[in-house]
Amino acid sequence: MFVTGLKCFKCGTTYEMTPTAYTCPACAGTPGDDGILDVQYDYHALSNIFPDLIKKSGRYDVFRFLPLLPISEPTNVLPVGGTPLVAAPRLAARLGLKSLLLKDETRNPTRCLKDRATAIAVTLATANGYRDMYCASAGNAAISLAGFCANHGLGCHVFVPSEASQTRLNWLRRYGADIHVSTGNYDQAYDEAERAGAENGWYSRNCAFNPFLVEGKKTVAFEMGEQLGWQAPDLIVAPVGDGCTLGAIGKGFRELEAVGLTDEIPQLIGIQSEAIQPLVRRHRGDDSGGDNGNAQAASIAVRRPRNTLRLLSEIRLSNGLMLGVSDEHISSAQRTLAEEAGVVAEFTSAAALAGLIQLAEHESLENKSAVLVITGGRLDSDF
Ligand SMILES: [Zn+2]
Repeated sequence: MFVTGLKCFKCGTTYEMTPTAYTCPACAGTPGDDGILDVQYDYHALSNIFPDLIKKSGRYDVFRFLPLLPISEPTNVLPVGGTPLVAAPRLAARLGLKSLLLKDETRNPTRCLKDRATAIAVTLATANGYRDMYCASAGNAAISLAGFCANHGLGCHVFVPSEASQTRLNWLRRYGADIHVSTGNYDQAYDEAERAGAENGWYSRNCAFNPFLVEGKKTVAFEMGEQLGWQAPDLIVAPVGDGCTLGAIGKGFRELEAVGLTDEIPQLIGIQSEAIQPLVRRHRGDDSGGDNGNAQAASIAVRRPRNTLRLLSEIRLSNGLMLGVSDEHISSAQRTLAEEAGVVAEFTSAAALAGLIQLAEHESLENKSAVLVITGGRLDSDF
């Protein structure tokens, strides 16, 4: 393994690699953001050899990128990754872009990007003798975990908010998960999951708690880089809840730069729902509250985002932006993605296009290339 250690985003303390590490012990109980650990690698040792190593792997799933993952060998989990970049020339023309590509993560085994993190979590859980796993989720992460646990024969305990849709509960039942429906919102379900996980000794699949899951998510950036001939696009747009996915994409491109594969990193554009947009405010330095509304985009309806420091750091390093969009515009973008690109995205994922449309109204995107991350394709209602 090329892992050199774990570093706390909050206090900077470094730790030895421990496959069962979660958040920073030194930051436990301190106010404000959680002490999320970040996996560090020996990029110098990987420079020049990374492309050969991934080619020699002979794999087209997340384990293709094993040298930059915190695991020593792949496990036989549901195959994840190797998703296509879909060209969307009609949308590119509408927005004045040089090119627009959709990273279609709906093609993963449980139809969303979360499967990349789950593959790493299941690998680490089984390698370390765990028989049960847990997570908190508005739906997709829980469904992903349930599918992988079903395939692997692991106990799966999921904690979902009271407003979890019937569609998502049905998916959890199909996979045979042990379902805990909270009396409150996602943030309450998250606290309940962490308590139960600690009490019962289950392995965590909470991406802003277990530091190794972001490592799985960043493989989406490695794939985009490789599919584009190791050229970063100008813009990458993705919906943002806890901040893990876009934070992981930023890390992935910086790692490609660190091992000498790309010269530039893309500008990251994170999209939240106008009704619940704590990271939009935090990015502009506004500490006031104001997330009292309800957002139809359930997967990003996170009032207390857990991976704030990572997300804001990646946005800053990429000279990026955070934007809020209305439910009405997300709904319209969902129809446009289907009608003008042939891709059916779930409501939350369509927020990425709504954000890009909003950006195009305020600045010229001429001569720019953009990738929208279509994070999931599970529909909660027809459109
Ligand atoms: Zn710390």
